[in-house]
Amino acid sequence: MLQPVDLSVFLAFVAGLVVLGLFGLQAWYDRRDALLFDHRRLNSAFYCTRCSLTFVRPRRREEATCPHCGWNNVRLKF
Ligand SMILES: [Zn+2]
Repeated sequence: MLQPVDLSVFLAFVAGLVVLGLFGLQAWYDRRDALLFDHRRLNSAFYCTRCSLTFVRPRRREEATCPHCGWNNVRLKF
């Protein structure tokens, strides 16, 4: 059975849903931007001890092979 609802109660309910949706969107975009920023920011720098090449690899990693000579190098730590 449907019961009559006051218009102001209905509008307050709709406004509450809109506010909750906006907070949800803000939280989702904040998390997405933080993940994208970390993905772009976290690079690892390497210096090849065999051929003296300095190169960068994406993401955080401890070892990488040199693109020039194939030597396995350890990440530079500052
Ligand atoms: Zn090398």
